Amino acid sequence: MTAAVEFRRVERHYGEVRAVDGVDLSIAQGEFFAMLGPSGSGKTTCLRLIAGFERPTGGEVAIMGAPMGDVPPYRRPVNTVFQDYALFPHLNVRDNVAYGLMIAGQGRAPRRRAADEALEMVALPGYGARKPSELSGGQRQRVALARALVMQPKVLLLDEPLGALDLKLREAMQEELKALQRRLGITFVFVTHDQGEALSMADRVAVFNDGRIVQAGTPEDIYYRPEAPFVADFVGSSNLLPPEVTRRLGLGDGPAALRPEAVRLVSEGGHAARVTGLAFLGTATRLSLDLDGHRMTALIPRGADMPAEGSDVRIGWAPDDLHLMKVSA
Ligand code: ADP
Ligand code: MG
Repeated sequence: MTAAVEFRRVERHYGEVRAVDGVDLSIAQGEFFAMLGPSGSGKTTCLRLIAGFERPTGGEVAIMGAPMGDVPPYRRPVNTVFQDYALFPHLNVRDNVAYGLMIAGQGRAPRRRAADEALEMVALPGYGARKPSELSGGQRQRVALARALVMQPKVLLLDEPLGALDLKLREAMQEELKALQRRLGITFVFVTHDQGEALSMADRVAVFNDGRIVQAGTPEDIYYRPEAPFVADFVGSSNLLPPEVTRRLGLGDGPAALRPEAVRLVSEGGHAARVTGLAFLGTATRLSLDLDGHRMTALIPRGADMPAEGSDVRIGWAPDDLHLMKVSA
């Protein structure tokens, strides 16, 4: 099947700044694809290259199999939902949603019908006559979504769309967005710097650093099988064992990642460690450990016997849980 979006060696340089520095990617139709990375890693620039607000300084962007070259934004089968919503304050909700259709020359009656349908899709039926100022932040976010969906894009681009919402609303919207994407079958390209958000929502995640994709894979790949220390470190609270430690302990020859929840206290075997701190987290306790001079953490589930601070313990893990990395970037 034709890819929804394809990047071939795409570059976007601004003078000396390499905002996007040789990105290859292929996003399948119907996929929920997340671009994850720290601020300044090139995520927004990649979205703008898909939308057509930016042109590559090298390489090629194709959408639905067609090279985009000089195709202007309004001729691309994509739409963008911005973090700040960018709603028109003087227009009511329905006219905001129908705006793109009006620009496209569609008549008043079909425009209204389409806008009301889109508002229903985002669970805001009957809100058409309100002004944006009469809505909550979450509702404005839905209007922005409806305004993009009404254009029936093949690909929906979302740039940190939940960034302005508080945690509870954010989590509710994550579930809703994901359900909506499944129902509509539209390809979503979702930019976020929040690893939890990317892992919980996406079919596939691309981890960005310095204008490049360090790793692209399923949330499980990214979380359990990081290919570089940067990914293990950015994507979760992983223990990163430097090559000296893995060598000294006879575990392997490169850096390794070990999730805190994979570390167990064992009565014999394993490795000697000292408990340097304890933090009660509710469902688990986080132990800070000194393993052969290296600081690491373990998450011990509620109910297990808890060692005292300063005590000597033995720790172990299932062999599969220690992930050795090829690169030492
Ligand atoms: P992200 O969305 O991951 O935070 P961006 O894609 O916005 O990152 O930016 C990537 C890098 O490119 C940053 O260093 C940013 O300062 C730079 N950059 C983005 N747009 C421009 C521009 N128009 N001119 C110069 N530098 C830019
Ligand atoms: Mg950005």
